[in-house]
Amino acid sequence: DGRHGLTVLGATGSIGTSTLDLVRRNPDTFKVVALTAHSRILELAEAAREFNAELAVTSDPARYQDLKAALEGSGIEVAAGPEAVVEAARRPSARTVMAAIVGAAGLAPTLAAVARGARVALANKECLVCAGDLMTAAVADSGAVLLPVDSEHNAIFQVFDDERREGIEKIILTASGGPFRRTALEDMRAVTPEQAVAHPNWSMGAKISVDSASMMNKGLELIEAHHLFAMPESRIDILVHPQSVIHSMVAYVDGSVLAQLGCPDMRTPIAYALAWPARMKAPVERLDLGKIATLSFEAPDLVRFPALRLAREALRQGGGAPTILNAANEVAVAAFLGRRIGFLDIAAVVDATLARLDPKAPASIDEVIGLDAAARRTAEDLLGSVVAAQ
Ligand code: NDP
Ligand code: MG
Repeated sequence: DGRHGLTVLGATGSIGTSTLDLVRRNPDTFKVVALTAHSRILELAEAAREFNAELAVTSDPARYQDLKAALEGSGIEVAAGPEAVVEAARRPSARTVMAAIVGAAGLAPTLAAVARGARVALANKECLVCAGDLMTAAVADSGAVLLPVDSEHNAIFQVFDDERREGIEKIILTASGGPFRRTALEDMRAVTPEQAVAHPNWSMGAKISVDSASMMNKGLELIEAHHLFAMPESRIDILVHPQSVIHSMVAYVDGSVLAQLGCPDMRTPIAYALAWPARMKAPVERLDLGKIATLSFEAPDLVRFPALRLAREALRQGGGAPTILNAANEVAVAAFLGRRIGFLDIAAVVDATLARLDPKAPASIDEVIGLDAAARRTAEDLLGSVVAAQ
C-alpha cells in the first residue's frame, strides 16, 4: 500500500471532520492509520469503519466499553485513555499526524508525534502556547516537520521566505474581530454562550469560538506565531479584517507585503498541510474578489478585548506565563460555556491567575504539566470570587 498514512488526533471535531472530508475525496492518496476522540464515541466508530482505520482510541477510559461495542466485529483495534492516545500518535505507519485535539490535552500526543519525526499538521495551538520552547526544541531534535493548520499561520507559512529571514520585517496576523467586534463593552457583560459561539465567518468547535469572541484566540495565535516562525513579539502585529479573506501577511524590508487569500474554509489550510510541499484540490468556494468588492481593516480594541493585551504581556514576560495564560483561559472558557461566569469574567480570571502564580520557565514537559495543573486549580478557585464581585 503506497498510500500516505495519516493519523487524526481529535477526529470527531471541526478540524478532524474537515480533515476526513478531504481524505474521503482522495481515497487513493491517504490511508487512515489511527483515529482518536474523547466523548463522541459513535461518530468515532463510524469514521473508523468508513476509513477502515487500524486503530480507534477514546481518551476517556470510562468510554472504552462503548467504543468496543460500537466496533464489534470490525477488526479495528480499540483502546482508551490518554496514554493510548499517545501510543496512537506514535504509530510509525502514519507519515502525517493531524493534531486536532482541543486544549493542552493535546500536548502529550502531539509531542509524541514530533518526537518520532513525523510530519505534524498542527491545529492544536494550545499545545504550542503552553510548551512552545520545548515543542520547537523537540522538532529540532527529531527532524519533525511542523505544518501549521491554523489559517493565519498557514497563510504566513505559505509566504514566509525562511531562507532569507533577514529580509523579513514583520508578520501581520489578521483577525475577524469575532461576533462582538461592534458590541459595546457594557453589552458584552451579558452575552450568552450561544451568542459567543456564533462566529460570523468560521464554523468551529465551541472553545475556539469563545476564544475568537474574546479575541484570546488572536492572543494565543500571537504566541503560536512567535514559536512557529521564531519572531519576537515586537515584530508581530494584529490587524482586524472582518471579511477573513486575507488570512495573514508577511512584510519585507523593501516594503513588499505578501499575503495569502481565500474564502474562509479550513479545508484550504488543511489541504495545504496534508499535501505539502505539493498541492491538492480542495472542494471549497473559490474566492471572487469582484463579488466581495470591499476588504476593510481596523486596529484591534485593547479596551474591549483585554485578552489581546494579556497574551502579549505573557509572551513578553515569557517563562511559564503563556502556560498559565492558556490553562486559566481553558478553565474560564469552560466556566463561561457552563454559565458559571460571565463573558468579561474570562479575561478577568486569566488576569488574576497570572497575577497569583510564579511564571518560572518550565524546564521539562512534566514541569509544563505541573504548572498547567496549578494554573487550572488557581483559576478554578478564582471563579467564585469573580462571580462574587458582580
Ligand atoms: P472541536 O471541539 O470541534 O474538537 C475537538 C476534538 O478534540 C474532538 O475530537 C474531541 O473529542 C477531542 N477532545 C476533546 N477533549 C479531549 C481530551 N481531553 N483529550 C483528547 N481529545 C479530546 O475543536 P476544533 O476542531 O474546533 O479545534 C481543534 C483544535 O484546532 C483547537 O486547538 C483549535 O484551537 C484549533 N483550530 C481550530 C479551527 C477551526 O476552524 N475549528 C481553526 C484553527 C485552529 P470529542 O468530540 O469526541 O469529545
Ligand atoms: Mg486562526
